[in-house]
Amino acid sequence: MERIEKDVVIIGGGLTGLTTALQLKKKGLTVALLEKSDRTGGQIATHSEQGFLFESGPNTGSGASEEVMELYHFLSGRCEIEFATKEAESRWIWKKGKFHPLPGGLIGGITTPLFTMGDKLRILGEPFRRKGSDPDETVAAMTARRLGKSFLDYAVDPFLSGVYAGDPHTLITRHALPKLYNLEQQYGSFIGGSIQKAREAMKQPAGKARKGIFSTYGGMEQLTRAMSAAIGGEETFLSLTGVTVAPDRETGHWNTTATQQGGQLLFRSRHLVTTTGAYQLPELLPFVDASSMKQLTSLRYAPVVQVAVGVKKLDGLRFNAFGGLIPTAEKEDFLGILFPSACFTGRSPEGGMLFSFFMGGIRNGSFLDLSDREIEERVIRSFHRMLRFPAEKEPDLIRIFRHRYAIPQYERSSEERFRAVSSLEKQYSGLHIAGNLRDGIGMGHRITQGFRLAEEIQ
Ligand SMILES: Cc1cc2nc3c(=O)[nH]c(=O)nc-3n(C[C@H](O)[C@H](O)[C@H](O)COP(=O)(O)OP(=O)(O)OC[C@H]3O[C@@H](n4cnc5c(N)ncnc54)[C@H](O)[C@@H]3O)c2cc1C
Repeated sequence: MERIEKDVVIIGGGLTGLTTALQLKKKGLTVALLEKSDRTGGQIATHSEQGFLFESGPNTGSGASEEVMELYHFLSGRCEIEFATKEAESRWIWKKGKFHPLPGGLIGGITTPLFTMGDKLRILGEPFRRKGSDPDETVAAMTARRLGKSFLDYAVDPFLSGVYAGDPHTLITRHALPKLYNLEQQYGSFIGGSIQKAREAMKQPAGKARKGIFSTYGGMEQLTRAMSAAIGGEETFLSLTGVTVAPDRETGHWNTTATQQGGQLLFRSRHLVTTTGAYQLPELLPFVDASSMKQLTSLRYAPVVQVAVGVKKLDGLRFNAFGGLIPTAEKEDFLGILFPSACFTGRSPEGGMLFSFFMGGIRNGSFLDLSDREIEERVIRSFHRMLRFPAEKEPDLIRIFRHRYAIPQYERSSEERFRAVSSLEKQYSGLHIAGNLRDGIGMGHRITQGFRLAEEIQ
């Protein structure tokens, strides 16, 4: 058995593991990044075919935090951040057979058919409504209470479908949308709080963080590839099977064993970081007691099918928006359709367009089991009915990607899970249970967590 000594062993070579490894290396620590697949990047993967550049995982990050900007700055020359065009500021919402722009201003807000007149009038009273007192209030309950049901159905529900592929009736606001929760807690109102925060931000000196939607030139995978290259091949161990961890009580070390091409590897380290989904933890951490493990694995994941659809000629149609979101109330097959080539360069041949269709989610998990043919048929139906392509036109490219464990749902069980993580980390010195089971589900969150973890370990 080959024995490898490192300061830190990190399990999982997705964005969280890569960020943690890179930050630790920059601080002079030795790391081993352990990955079961034959590539790093995890959910992030970009594909290129017939002049289309499309993602099978995340398409866009939102709001580049200081850590995100620092990461891209460090990797400059290897990969570059790309901010979305102005078009990405416009979002469409499907209602009664048509996409409508989500209003961004007062006039649009008054004239939009998305919300009822009663709720439009009711919103004027939002700043004066009483603060909620249930810390476990769902996003649905909170939105209906402060804004009204039509805002829940035609703004918040489609937004949550886009971000969580989730259900506002089960997502808990303080865990799933902590910024929104804090607006009410701190300022007593969404509207008043947003205005106040915007004023405060204007007084602050401009930091490194940047608002807006971002990707990477050449696709998101350029980022994880650049990170891998910066970490180096010697620290990265791919195609591992049977990865499992045991604490060495006598020396305070961690022993991680794995098999690579038939050979056994033993990693010894002071720190052990997991970044995989919660469902992988029983196999990785068999020493954890059953009751704590149950609190970790009770996390539900929304399954998602993403379909890349390309057309080489638009024939006069225009899609000048981030994409169209589809409310659950409309009972359609899809959660939403993004328009990546309206937002970023090089996603489709000149004059063409790339779309990303999303289906499934926590409420329609069975869509994952549809055959490719059935998915294709539904895509083509919506291609004509929702995107308004003429009946005789067919997409030039359709590629289907299924994700059984796409997005973790921060539901009522979250508090228990966070407590279990922190109590295990106290019980076992040098153990760090990270990844998207806590600290947020987006790419920005993963990068921030990696930065913080590296600080903590150092
Ligand atoms: C379809 C889809 C769309 C998304 N869209 C967006 C978006 O638009 N914006 C956004 O911000 N985020 C989006 N996300 C979320 C984003 O992709 C994730 O937050 C991020 O990529 C997760 O990174 P991670 O490293 O935490 O996990 P992962 O990428 O899942 O990485 C975990 C790694 O651990 C490895 N692993 C698992 N088990 C083992 C084991 N036993 N031994 C060794 N290695 C193991 C896996 O192979 C994987 O490489 C999307 C996700 C999906 C699936």
